[in-house]
Amino acid sequence: MDVIVVGSVGIDTIETPTEKRESILGGSASYACAASSYFSNVGMVGVVGTDFPKNFRDVYESFNVDLAGLQTVEGDTFRWSGVYQENMDNRETISTDLNVFETFSPELPDNYKSCPYVFLANIAPELQLHVLDQVQSPKFVLADTMDLWINIAVEPLKQVISRVDMMTLNESEARHLTGEHALLRAARSLLEMGPTYVLIKKGEHGSILFSKDRIFLMPAFPLEEVEDPTGAGDTFAGGFMGSFAASGQTSEEAIRKAMVYGSVVASFGVEKFSLDRLQEVNIEEIEERAYLFREMLRID
Ligand code: AMP
Repeated sequence: MDVIVVGSVGIDTIETPTEKRESILGGSASYACAASSYFSNVGMVGVVGTDFPKNFRDVYESFNVDLAGLQTVEGDTFRWSGVYQENMDNRETISTDLNVFETFSPELPDNYKSCPYVFLANIAPELQLHVLDQVQSPKFVLADTMDLWINIAVEPLKQVISRVDMMTLNESEARHLTGEHALLRAARSLLEMGPTYVLIKKGEHGSILFSKDRIFLMPAFPLEEVEDPTGAGDTFAGGFMGSFAASGQTSEEAIRKAMVYGSVVASFGVEKFSLDRLQEVNIEEIEERAYLFREMLRID
């Protein structure tokens, strides 16, 4: 196993200005594992209930995601529903039913414990810490979070931030957590908590990578149409981790290159609901778009 991902595995209901889809495959771990799988062997750590449809499991298998760390327990799978406003930038959460996540404790299969690349996707920070306690000297750990945990679990979240190599948050979460409005100050404050890198996501405007002495600005790949932006951050992070692991390097240059792949895979992901578009895309199409994207980024 090159990369393990712990995160939510869920059944989503999503409404955009033009369409409503009910009970589709979602969850931070689903998006991240699918995205990672183009580049690396990836294992999923999560939980589903006995209601989890067989065809969703088949989707993971179509991406060759290892499911040894996916527990199935009595009860209902995590469910989430959200509605996008006209500009697709603002989203309102309609409901979150933790269900089997309420009593979940992630237990890593033995062969996951020595995995070098670990992505702690959006899930309760206590659970992220429990995964960190089980892995043996990983090479690189990335963690993500969301507003909910800043509101209800800020102390364990700060512990997570102090133990990872890279922390990723969106713009408003970074401001909320640090109390700093200027992104540069918010990023500095996050770097002071311990990670070497802080990656601030800015939705359709891309992301910014901060380290102690450097800043790198990455736009998003421009698209004509976005069908469903759900999971874009998880897809970015999964594509990032998978390609970063495959590079075998840990330099900041390697991080920047992996951000290109993260952006490209995320750009495919949002073209359709759930993992539908990612299921159609192959690595050649990803490389092709990555080439176009690098051309767009060239300034010399
Ligand atoms: P994003 O668009 O990056 O916020 O990711 C959306 C995905 O996160 C959806 O597929 C949801 O199932 C999942 N999700 C929503 N709320 C939570 C939560 N509280 N904890 C973990 N995952 C969540």
